[in-house]
Amino acid sequence: MKNIILYGAPAAGKGTMCEILVERLGYKHISTGELFRSLDDSTELGRFIHERIAKGILIDDETTATLVKNRLAELEGPVVLDGFPRTLNQAKILDGFFSDYVVINIEVSEEVALKRTLGRVNCPKCGRIYNIYTDMKPKQDNICDDCGCELKGRSDDNEESFKVRFNTYLANVESVLNYYKGKNSLYIIQSYESKEETYADIKKILDSQE
Ligand code: AMP
Repeated sequence: MKNIILYGAPAAGKGTMCEILVERLGYKHISTGELFRSLDDSTELGRFIHERIAKGILIDDETTATLVKNRLAELEGPVVLDGFPRTLNQAKILDGFFSDYVVINIEVSEEVALKRTLGRVNCPKCGRIYNIYTDMKPKQDNICDDCGCELKGRSDDNEESFKVRFNTYLANVESVLNYYKGKNSLYIIQSYESKEETYADIKKILDSQE
């Protein structure tokens, strides 16, 4: 099974598609946003990175690529990269140590993405993602279906930060997507209301690679 580099603006459904790829196809998930958020806040590096994330600013390419390289070395089997590479420079660095991948971009409008962002909550214990505005609501208000914990929003899920992240994302990713287009490895799909429909499009692409 091919490795996947998954793209989509904030709230395009990348995280949800990654959960499904892990559960159904056994992919290993590497999200640079999650890797950064899990860094210990008691260290200077952790605090520096968390401050930048709260403002929606990108972390430098070397720090990010090193973190991904270390994580790849710990894993076996096909991986799905989520949130990386975000810049052309990161894509070129990645090509130095990662191959046999397909690149998939999930497209979404800014209006739909903002609404989904403001409705997004997740479980601090198991990480399950919910959305109060879509078919991914928890059964009981604000409580995780699986472990009964209280659900939390992300500190960077506010309108101001969303706009910075959405526009930074579009500005940076264009050159990366053009890079992969030039290598004939880019596939573009739409983010549907139904996650099953979006997943079906990803599965079709993977099957066409076998
Ligand atoms: P995400 O969860 O992918 O939206 O990422 C949250 C934040 O982590 C971003 O706004 C950046 O500050 C940082 N980040 C995640 N991935 C990268 C990356 N590939 N390069 C630089 N910064 C990143």
